Amino acid sequence: MGALLGVILLITLVFVLADTYLLWSRIVPLLSEAGESDALIAFLIQSGLTSILFVLAVVCIVFVIIAHFIARPVDTITTAMRAFAATQERQEVALPWAPKEVHELATAFDSFSATVDEVHRHDMEVSRVKSDFISTAAHQLRTPLTGIRWALEALERDSITENQKALVENAKEKSKQLVAVVGTLLDISSIESGKYKYDMQRTELNAIVGDVTHDFVQLAANAQVSLLFEKTTSQSPVVMVDTERIRWVLNNLIENAIRYTPAGGSVRVLTEQRGDKAYVWVRDTGIGIPEQDRGNIFTRFYRASNAVTKENAGNGLGLYIARTIANDHGGDLTFATNENGPGTTFTLSLPITS
Ligand code: ADP
Repeated sequence: MGALLGVILLITLVFVLADTYLLWSRIVPLLSEAGESDALIAFLIQSGLTSILFVLAVVCIVFVIIAHFIARPVDTITTAMRAFAATQERQEVALPWAPKEVHELATAFDSFSATVDEVHRHDMEVSRVKSDFISTAAHQLRTPLTGIRWALEALERDSITENQKALVENAKEKSKQLVAVVGTLLDISSIESGKYKYDMQRTELNAIVGDVTHDFVQLAANAQVSLLFEKTTSQSPVVMVDTERIRWVLNNLIENAIRYTPAGGSVRVLTEQRGDKAYVWVRDTGIGIPEQDRGNIFTRFYRASNAVTKENAGNGLGLYIARTIANDHGGDLTFATNENGPGTTFTLSLPITS
């Protein structure tokens, strides 16, 4: 391509030199003939116009060549790159008339997309194997755990001493926690394999929020944390949700708020409708989220250092699942540090249904 343009420019240069030479060789005799100045001017104009037209023609040819041999193939490569970025589907890039350099660019893009494609497939495979492993392990854990719980419940009904009863109660509680962890792992596995299903129903948001808050009255009292549900409007926002899953999200938010709030603190749950969105705020006066951890708390298995110190139990999966559920409903889950005083406010937003 460079060579072709070089030849065109060389021809132009030769023509301009030849033109100048011819011009000069004809001007000299004309200059010597006095009174022929009109013919001289006409000749100069004619020669000038010819040169301009020629240069214009050359510019047009160069432009067409650049457009056809460079711009169009580059455009084809750009389109293929955009399509690859959007769909991860590789496209054949056919460039019959492109110069060597553009062909090399297309080949480089092709091998780049082949590498990305291979890495992506490998990641998907690793993710699938991991998901299958979690799912199989969780299923296999669930059956014996349920058996242990039944055995403990049966034991509890027997005449055992108060001491033994306390031990059985403790073991029952632990097995309940393990069943919950197994349930969470199964949720993660179905989220990652795209099998998480929702059963959507029209629901009054205040009813679910009131219910879930009520379930935590005892836990809050044990932790000496005051728990309050406030409705901002008397009429409840109506939302289209999978009630069980949204209950799960609220459970997670309120339980976290109580767990991460020291005795004497408070947790306020508020609902409000603003425009076409319903909001649930869970505001606590707890330990807060350190600045360096704020970008990560929705990441799987992530726990802030202050949370690990305050509360041993926890796996860092709750917020990840909760945000997935909120997003799958067309809403969101965010958090902010309280401005007036300590603690954190989590905000669940959901679209209002008509
Ligand atoms: P878990 O609470 O089981 O560790 P989550 O996914 O529910 O897992 O929460 C992730 C992390 O986010 C917690 O470990 C904690 O660091 C932080 N976090 C969540 N809720 C609160 C809260 N109300 N106050 C302070 N930190 C919180």
